[in-house]
Amino acid sequence: MSRPRIIVLGAGVSGLTTAVTMSLAGCDVVIYAAEGPAQTTSALAAAIWHPFYQAPDFVYLARARQTYTTMRRLSADAASGVRMRVLTEYFRRDAGAPWWAECASGLERLAPAEVPSRFACAYRMDAPVADAPIYLRYLMTLFLDLGGQYVHRRVSDPVSVLDDADHVVNCCGYGSRPFGDSDLSLSRAIVLRAARDDAVRGCFIDDADPASPTYVVERDDDIVLGGTADLDLTSTVIGERQIEDIVRRCAGLCEGVAALRIVEAHLGFRPMRRVPRVARDARHPRLLHNYGHGGGGFTLSWGCANDVLRLTGIASDASHPAVG
Ligand SMILES: Cc1cc2nc3c(=O)[nH]c(=O)nc-3n(C[C@H](O)[C@H](O)[C@H](O)COP(=O)(O)OP(=O)(O)OC[C@H]3O[C@@H](n4cnc5c(N)ncnc54)[C@H](O)[C@@H]3O)c2cc1C
Repeated sequence: MSRPRIIVLGAGVSGLTTAVTMSLAGCDVVIYAAEGPAQTTSALAAAIWHPFYQAPDFVYLARARQTYTTMRRLSADAASGVRMRVLTEYFRRDAGAPWWAECASGLERLAPAEVPSRFACAYRMDAPVADAPIYLRYLMTLFLDLGGQYVHRRVSDPVSVLDDADHVVNCCGYGSRPFGDSDLSLSRAIVLRAARDDAVRGCFIDDADPASPTYVVERDDDIVLGGTADLDLTSTVIGERQIEDIVRRCAGLCEGVAALRIVEAHLGFRPMRRVPRVARDARHPRLLHNYGHGGGGFTLSWGCANDVLRLTGIASDASHPAVG
């Protein structure tokens, strides 16, 4: 029997994890992407596994759990750019362990003496963190090694390539908006990259304020500080005051941040939707969608990719030592 032919649109984290998952299931997969992995929104992400400003949700939980497991497995391969890091999250209200706690290994509640007085409680856990550019490159190499093809190509509409494949999977992030999804919006994000310094070990998060998520993310070669979440703001200007505010908030989570040398500031746009669109297209059943993950594109990636595979109805009995 011939192998199902799949076109995946997009080479960000959603497109690459979908393409790898479909390849592992025995499909012939081609990625069409207007921009390569290094130019995507995904490449700018802090890329820590974390349900940022997310209300409790069973579907989210299942996808995040699956992603956690796969990223932890990938962290065993140094080349993947994924590491398990110690994450400390501070909460302004004590509602007990976070609703997604069952996903994370090593979860422990901090003793009151370890928690700054302006917070009600804090939890420490192990969390997967990807150095996004390295991880995306790794996923692309994995995809090509599995026999996949990459074509640099912008499509005017996913429907225009439906005749060339059994299924087309739209993973175009905010690029899906011109395809007619008016529920898709932007949230502007600023992140800073600082030189690595031993004064900062591990990761720290306070995301109580959805407009100002604050995070410090340790990577092998640098430290990422964030962030902002400005809905529908499209200006590409990064103000000095915004940089100072991020450093100030991050230093409130981890003292060592105050002495870090900031190397550069980046700006990206999260593709926002009330819920990510991971579904079969109502008018074109061979077209599937996987986009609109907001601040959780990495956190949801492997779970969403597996849901896409399930939606195609293609059985998967293949596995890979790294991905599962
Ligand atoms: C600063 C910042 C920090 C973040 N931190 C985190 C984090 O710590 N953890 C987390 O889970 N998430 C984080 N996110 C969110 C995450 O980055 C996004 O949800 C995710 O990158 C979206 O990935 P994607 O593959 O869907 O889209 P993208 O990365 O935008 O990729 C879209 C792809 O589609 C292609 N494309 C678009 N239009 C077309 C077309 N017409 N034809 C062909 N190809 C097309 C593009 O060229 C690109 O290859 C962060 C986001 C930002 C901006």
